[in-house]
Amino acid sequence: QLDDLSALVEKATELRVTLEPPAQLLTHEQVQAAFNQIQVIPYYQPKVDLNRCQVVGVEALARIRLPGEVNALRPCRFMPVIQEYGMLPQLSQRMLQQACKDLPTIKSILGNDIKVSLNISPEELENTYLADSLEHIWRKSGASNDSLVLEITEEHYIHNSAQLESLNRLRLRGFGLSLDDFGTGFTNINQLRDLPYTEVKIDRSLIINIHRDSFCQAILNGLVEIARQLGITLVAEGIEHMDELKYLMQTYPALILQGYLISLPRSLDTLNTWHKGWQHQFGNRSHIHRHQP
Ligand code: C2E
Ligand code: MG
Ligand code: MG
Ligand code: MG
Repeated sequence: QLDDLSALVEKATELRVTLEPPAQLLTHEQVQAAFNQIQVIPYYQPKVDLNRCQVVGVEALARIRLPGEVNALRPCRFMPVIQEYGMLPQLSQRMLQQACKDLPTIKSILGNDIKVSLNISPEELENTYLADSLEHIWRKSGASNDSLVLEITEEHYIHNSAQLESLNRLRLRGFGLSLDDFGTGFTNINQLRDLPYTEVKIDRSLIINIHRDSFCQAILNGLVEIARQLGITLVAEGIEHMDELKYLMQTYPALILQGYLISLPRSLDTLNTWHKGWQHQFGNRSHIHRHQP
């Protein structure tokens, strides 16, 4: 039944090639100018529950759109500059403000229950007013706090007391907290016990070739069971191939899926077209349910 999905694979492969970034970093002046001229914008990548045939969320990923450039530039072209010049708070504010503006459109396409994920860097957690400032901005969207999820990369082990306090404050306000890129960096399973995460995103490195990698299968089996018992949402990111998708769907019906195969990160104005295609593929596919009675 899944064979007609192969059209998606081709499309994704085609699009990916056109998105290959040149290696050059933007200068500080270019990044600053992009902020001033509102050329820093979120692209949105859907997170889907294939078992329920539902789009459950969108992850906002920062892009810079320079005049005259066809493709929006990805973070690898500007994140090092933003980090070096202490512009991370500015980036989060801009991304969240824009997401607030975009939310009515996103909801009108994907439904009122849609969640928005925002990436924040661990350094930002050191500012214990983070929860206040994010809440202040998000309030303007009219949406409740539990419809905003903050994705935090575990590239650094979260340890200092300010970071812990921030995480707890964010959670107390009702924001979702997602442990991003799980399986890379300083993976420490204790973080799931000690920190108030509501979601874990399994890094692409554990998803590649999952259908024929028994090591990754063993890890995933464990994670699925841990997440189930702790009541944490599990997301698999970076799904590029049909074999991976089929295996994950069939083996782990509760997993939320994200990746180029389902959708590239896309500008707001292409979300509707993507969703129509998605509905066409999955709208009447209750027969895809496999493990639920
Ligand atoms: P991330 O949060 O782990 O986001 C996932 C990255 O993987 C994104 O790259 C996304 O475009 C890419 N991706 C999605 N599906 C696939 C797939 O199927 N295959 C492959 N190979 N890649 C896939 P992107 O947009 O270049 O962002 C890179 C990183 O930059 C993000 O990783 C995140 O850590 C950071 N970032 C992006 N936007 C922001 C932001 O607004 N603020 C902060 N602080 N960091 C951001
Ligand atoms: Mg992320
Ligand atoms: Mg990351
Ligand atoms: Mg990630």
